[in-house]
Parts: sequence; C-alpha cells; structure tokens
Amino acid sequence: MRIIRYQEQSAARYGWVLDDKAGPIEGDPYGAFQRGEATIPLAGLTLLPPVTPSKIVCVGRNYVAHAKELGNEVPEVPMLFLKPPSSVLAPGGTIVLPPQTQQVEHEAELTVVIGKRGRWIEPDDVKDHILGYTIANDITARDLQKRDGQWTRGKGFDTFCPFGPWVETEFDPADAVVTCTVNGELRQMGSTRDMIFSVRQLLAYISSVMTLEPGDLVLTGTPAGVGPLKEGDELVTSIEGLGELRNAVAAEQVH
Ligand code: ZN
Repeated sequence: MRIIRYQEQSAARYGWVLDDKAGPIEGDPYGAFQRGEATIPLAGLTLLPPVTPSKIVCVGRNYVAHAKELGNEVPEVPMLFLKPPSSVLAPGGTIVLPPQTQQVEHEAELTVVIGKRGRWIEPDDVKDHILGYTIANDITARDLQKRDGQWTRGKGFDTFCPFGPWVETEFDPADAVVTCTVNGELRQMGSTRDMIFSVRQLLAYISSVMTLEPGDLVLTGTPAGVGPLKEGDELVTSIEGLGELRNAVAAEQVH
C-alpha cells in the first residue's frame, strides 16, 4: 500500500493511493485504520510530506564509491548524523538555496519510515518496526559541511529534506536502483545492494543509541555522483519500486 498525506481544506489527512487515484485513511496509519474508496484524482491533490518525523537520522558514507569520490575512507561502524524536522519539504516543493552557501548538492537516498517505537531492536525484529520505505534527497551545503567539521549547518537548512511522494509498505530494500537526475541529465545511479550497512544493521545500530519513534526517518546514504544544484534546476530522485520525487530549486529571498 502507498500511504500519502494531503491537504483537505485547511486540515492535513492521511490517504492511500491506487494507480492514479487516492482515497482517505480513517484512523492511525501506525495502528488501526480503515481505507475509504480511492476515487480522488491524485493529480488534483496537494501532497504533504507523507509522515511527520520527530527526528531524521542519516547515515554518511554508506556506499564505497561515494565515500571515495569525496576522498573519504569507508567507516567501520555506521556514521550517523541528524537533520532537524524543520528541514522537511513536501513532494513537489521547492528547495531553497540559502545565501550562506555557494555549493549546494543533491544526495539521493533510500529512506526507511519507522512504524513502531523501539530501542535496542534486534536485527531479526527490525522488520516489525518498519512502516515502509520512501525516497528522500539529503540536500547538503557541501562548503559549509567541510568548513564547520560538524554537519548540522550544512545539512540542516529549511527545505533540505524533501521526501515522498508516499510511503510504500510493500518494498524489498535488498536490490533497488536509486537514481537522481537534474534537468533530465543523469547524475547518480546506484543499487541498494552496494550499501555497506544494510537496513537491518542500521536500525539495530541506531536504536542502540536512540529510541526510534513512529514516523521517524532513516536516510540510508547516497550512491556516487553527488553534484551541484542551482537556481531553476528541476531535481528528480527515483527509486525502483517507489516511484519518483520531484523538486524545483530556487534562491532564497532574504528580507
Ligand atoms: Zn546523505
């Protein structure tokens, strides 16, 4: 099932997608819910980020080729960092380039959506804690990331975490092609089978540090080919079996 959130008058509500139609979800997508008939044309809906994470956990250098392209060693344990919930951007939303940076880059990433609270999750139990999977782009101000050493500023600007358009509950993360195009030009293409740490290993490791809550996101790292974004670009991030995430890029208007 594909779970969305959309705007209905002034309220946000959960829904589900069947082909090019959507229907409402009554209840809690993490618990008991009922699906209404899918009769609303998807194209006419204003989509919101499909979940509301309390935190966004990211994994750095989880593909050998990407670690090498930035001149880094492959980590021995997962390298974790956080993006703030304020960085979330809806599918179709515009990535805003802030004035403090001259080098904003795309990072296409398979993303896990947590469905059930957990700490010290055993590798064999990881599946029970996953609601589904989605597409995210870990937008990064590379110059600030390098200058600061700490990654909070470079990774944390508003709009730097576009994700969606939905959460797919039936998805196998073992071997899916991840691609990123800018203005139709292919920039990134890799397979999740080349991830250094698997989803199973990552969730066990992360939950040994922090409690994972329903709606939390885990961005699993990016394949090689990261590159610059500039004003006016059209970014398409896609994952085989999950569809595609589209975002525009604009410069920030500072008042
Ligand atoms: Zn990343």
